[in-house]
This record gives sequence, C-alpha cells and structure tokens, in this order.
Amino acid sequence: MKVNKIKGTLDFYQYDAKKYRYLQRIASGVAESFGFREMITPIFEATEVFVRSVGEGSDIVNKEMYTFIDRGERSITLRPEGTAPVTRAFVENKLYAIPGIHKFYYFGPMFRYERPQAGRLRQFTQFGVEAFGGEHPNLDADLINLNYQILQAIGIKNIKVLINTIGSGKARENYVEALKLHFEPHLSTLCEDCKQRYQKNPLRMLDCKVDCHSPIMQSAPLVSNYLPEEDLKYFQDVMSALNFFGIPFEKSDRLVRGLDYYTNTVFEIVYDDPNSPLNNLALSAGGRYNSLTRDFDGPDYPAIGFAMGIERLMMVMDELDITVSETKDDTITVITLGEKMKKQGLLLTQYLRLKGKRVEIDYQSHNLKPQFKLADRTGSRYIIIIGLDEFENNQIRIKDSWEKTEILIPVPELTAFFGIEGEKYAYQK
Ligand code: ATP
Ligand code: MG
Repeated sequence: MKVNKIKGTLDFYQYDAKKYRYLQRIASGVAESFGFREMITPIFEATEVFVRSVGEGSDIVNKEMYTFIDRGERSITLRPEGTAPVTRAFVENKLYAIPGIHKFYYFGPMFRYERPQAGRLRQFTQFGVEAFGGEHPNLDADLINLNYQILQAIGIKNIKVLINTIGSGKARENYVEALKLHFEPHLSTLCEDCKQRYQKNPLRMLDCKVDCHSPIMQSAPLVSNYLPEEDLKYFQDVMSALNFFGIPFEKSDRLVRGLDYYTNTVFEIVYDDPNSPLNNLALSAGGRYNSLTRDFDGPDYPAIGFAMGIERLMMVMDELDITVSETKDDTITVITLGEKMKKQGLLLTQYLRLKGKRVEIDYQSHNLKPQFKLADRTGSRYIIIIGLDEFENNQIRIKDSWEKTEILIPVPELTAFFGIEGEKYAYQK
C-alpha cells in the first residue's frame, strides 16, 4: 500500500533540512543576544488554552484547530500558535514571582486546518518570542527591532514593516461598534467571510483579502479616532524609538490581527519586491497582549511577542538565492582491503568518531570500487586505506582528495595528522 504524507505537510531532507536548522540557529542566536531564553512547551494542550485566549471569533478557533478527544475523554488540541502555550506555562510555573521582564523564544511545529497552498501549510513551523512584564514603548520598538535584525541576519533585506495600534478595553469596544454601524447597511455586497466576521469578529473584516479595495472598506472608520490620548501618545513613542533604531516602517491604519488577545501595538513584516511572486507575503506578525496572563488566572502582566513562519522564510531564501554556507566538511571514509581488515577499519572508525570526527565506513565490501563510491557520495575529504601490507608494517595510508595528495605514515602519527589530543592510536593485533 502506498501511503503519502498528509496534505499541507512537508518533508525536509538534505539541503532543505540544513536550511531549516540554519534558520532556527540564526533566529535563536539573535534572540539570545537580545537576552531571550528558550522555552519548550508541549505540542498539544487542553483545548481551553486556545479557545480562551485566541478567542472564539478567530479563524483559528472557528475553523482551523486540530482538536480531538483523547482516551481519557479530554479535549486536546495540537497547538495552532505559540503565545497561548507560553503564557499558560509562564502563569502555571509562577515565573512572574521574580520581578522584571521575562523574555522567552520558542521554535517548533504549529498545526492549522487551512486550505493548503504555497506558503500556507497545515503543519508549519514558527520561531516566536514573548516578553512578559514591562510596558514601555522602547520595549515594543526593541521587539520589532529584534524581528527586523533576525531577517537582516538571514540576508532578507527587502521587507516592509507595517505597524498600527488597535487599542484595548472600552475604546476598542466603541470602535468595533462604529465598524458594525458602518458595515451593516452594506453587508449584502460583501463576501461570505466578511458576513461571518461581522457577526463574530468585526475587526477582522478589515483584514479581508477579497473586499479590501471596495469603497465601503476604504471608507471604514479608523481606529485612531477612537483611542484615548495616552494610547496615541504611546504609539507615537513606539514610532520615535523605531526611528532612532533606524528601522524603516509604515504606519498602516487598517492593520489588525486575527487573534483576540492583541491590544495596542500590532505589526506585521511582509516581503517587499513588486517583481516577485512572493511580494507581500507575510513573514512575521506580532503585537502586544496586555491581558492574556489574566485570562489564565495569573497576575496582571503586560506582554508583547511575535512569530515568524519558517517555511515562508525558506521560500524567500530560495527566491533570493541565499545559501547556507557549507562548513568545510572534513568527512573521513575508512576503506579496508580484504576480509580480515574490516575489524581494524571498524575499530579505527570508532576511535575517530569518539574523537569527534565524521567518519563513514562500508560495513560489508572488501573491494575498492564500492568503498570509493561511498567516499564520493559522502563528499569525504580524507580516505584512509588499510590493507594487509599496511597493517603488517604498522602503517596507514591517507589520501587527501582536496589536496590530491597521498601519504603512508606510521600508525601512531595518525593522531597528530588529524590534530587529535590524548592517546595515540594503535592497530589491535
Ligand atoms: P494569515 O492572515 O496569513 O492567515 P495569520 O494572522 O494567521 O496569517 P499568524 O498567526 O500571525 O498569521 O502567524 C505568524 C506567521 O506565521 C505568519 O506571518 C506566517 O509567516 C506564518 N504562518 C501562519 N500561518 C501559516 C500557515 N498556515 N502556513 C505557513 N506559515 C504560516
Ligand atoms: Mg491565518
């Protein structure tokens, strides 16, 4: 029976696997230098974790979650995003007990039942960060700065940073009411998604990809007209801080987020190249979520975070021909001649591997041809050859396929040749 991978999932191997881990390394490295530490949470959670936080009106909770009842009759959900689990863990483990700003990053698979297409998967990977505690425009700006610097470090320069503030509490309620009043008379002209969002999450109507150019969308009221002075001032300060960090950005009046927990500052980073099919692809998104810890019955702890889509970054790397530099690979292949020498080869392989070298050996062949093929296939720089003559004279033959040289040396000198410290190697007679 032929079984294929599930629709909307990917297999990574060879160079793609390398790229994937490379992005993890770069993103984590930059986040570490900004003082973030890794948090690893389970891939599944009680369904509650997401329903309560992401919100019943969101696309995620409405139609995208992988939810199932386990054998203990509990409702379980494969995590569709990382902020709610990290917040759940932050509160559950009482990490707030130590005062100050708590900064975490995470990396791992997320699951959403979406219509699969390029850059839209059912299992995808996010690198994300969350900073709990501290509500200051400098922190908001520094987080956007971190996101920007990660993309720069990868080599993705043509990006657009879009930012907005969506307020919170009563001001936001008033704004949502105004939106509803505005759209109500025109509902019949809008798409099905808009009609649904009107009922469940009117803010998200502004995010509609179908009706975005319609006049009724264009004339919708702006959130900034409904926010109190202090929120506007805060946002102004975030923008000034971005300016002094030298981060180019665009104020985008209609930018909203699909998840209910966001408050005040929101942002998105999109790929920006009008000549590319990837133009406007969202690479990353985030914002403030000042009341999420309370949703988990924790203390009041304002927070801010973002998440980037790793597979989308891989697409952009391909588009820009950004390659992961291969570290000089000093793989060694050990070749043995004749049946008796295999044991010597295996023992030498073991010795070198335990000294940290990458070593290949053919387990069964005693002929040269297949063993040289292995060296070729694995891109080995060094080939060590052990034949009966070498063995009896206590020597070893080493070919360097880069330098195109070959030497025959006494076995004890092998250790120095590979710069290995400690005990010298000897054949086992
Ligand atoms: P969209 O409006 O495109 O559905 P979203 O608001 O659902 O995006 P977020 O939940 O904010 O996206 O996720 C942050 C980032 O994760 C996105 O900018 C994107 O790079 C990536 N991402 C989100 N959903 C997917 C998916 N289904 N497949 C691949 N990457 C995704
Ligand atoms: Mg989505």
